[in-house]
Amino acid sequence: MKKLVCAGEILVEIMAERIGQGFLAPGPLVGPFPSGAPAIFIDQAARLGQPAGLIAAVGDDDFGHLNIERLRADGADISAIKVHRGAATGTAFVTYETDGSRHFVYNIKQSAAGLIEIGTEARALLASADHFHVMGTSLFSPETIAVARAGIEAVKARGGTVSFDPNIREEMLDLPGLREALHFVLSKTDLFLPSGPELFIFAKATDEEGAVREMLQRGISTVVVKKGGQGAVHFDRAGRTVSPGFVVDEIDPTGAGDCFAAAFVSFWLRGATPEKALRIANGCGALAVTKKGPMEGIAFLAAVEAFIETAETGEA
Ligand code: ATP
Repeated sequence: MKKLVCAGEILVEIMAERIGQGFLAPGPLVGPFPSGAPAIFIDQAARLGQPAGLIAAVGDDDFGHLNIERLRADGADISAIKVHRGAATGTAFVTYETDGSRHFVYNIKQSAAGLIEIGTEARALLASADHFHVMGTSLFSPETIAVARAGIEAVKARGGTVSFDPNIREEMLDLPGLREALHFVLSKTDLFLPSGPELFIFAKATDEEGAVREMLQRGISTVVVKKGGQGAVHFDRAGRTVSPGFVVDEIDPTGAGDCFAAAFVSFWLRGATPEKALRIANGCGALAVTKKGPMEGIAFLAAVEAFIETAETGEA
């Protein structure tokens, strides 16, 4: 089976317990929950049985070990996760507002996550990889951008493929070199996985069909647009495939996009039809939102297969 690799931030997430609680006064917290978009992605792929490894850095602290143990237990390749003495694992403190929005206090750049590099172990991992997945969230410094470039180049040199989820946070857009880096990543991308509005960051067209056409003309073979509870739409030269989302009670949306992407990429690498890959990915995305904590709802293959057998789908 093909091996996929991702590089980027490992974090823990700590949440305000009550909706609307905020962080301007002391209040009850829950967590730490293992998190970080690349860690969520790799853990979901591993739980689906896909060989998967992560290039990352954590501190020599409980938060770092919590993540490493979770990934190890699920069968991910953790050989390229560096444990740094003297640096703390990244954190995200999250508060949920009454209107359903989320606010984050991050410590990523100044944490161990900012110390990611291509060392001996990362080089060895990339030498065994067939696919590299790039996450927009991970392109937060010149160093992390260099790691993504190195990953892409190593995997492409071996005849492998690249996928890209441009989940960029707005405050990142001013980072020097980011726009050039995004254009480089896009020029090497085979499979593009934006969620709704992210499709338009890179397109001149203002309608979905037009924007997708531009992406396919750039040489991207497959575009999958994630649409939250409504599911997802797949485009390639053969046409368009719509797959409705599954009906679930949403408890915590963090991580749904990463679980969806991991499942879709895993089944795309297995040569599954768009219908099959979308159904599994929608199933993983839906199950992800049913639990509090970004990695608590990540499903094993048998569980997602059982879920999609019986679950109800909504309107696409
Ligand atoms: P995030 O950045 O929060 O991880 P995203 O914006 O990248 O997510 P979404 O489109 O929100 O991605 O969600 C990804 C997929 O997860 C959807 O395409 C769908 O399959 C599933 N999903 C998300 N929210 C729900 C929901 N409320 N009910 C059912 N499925 C959902």
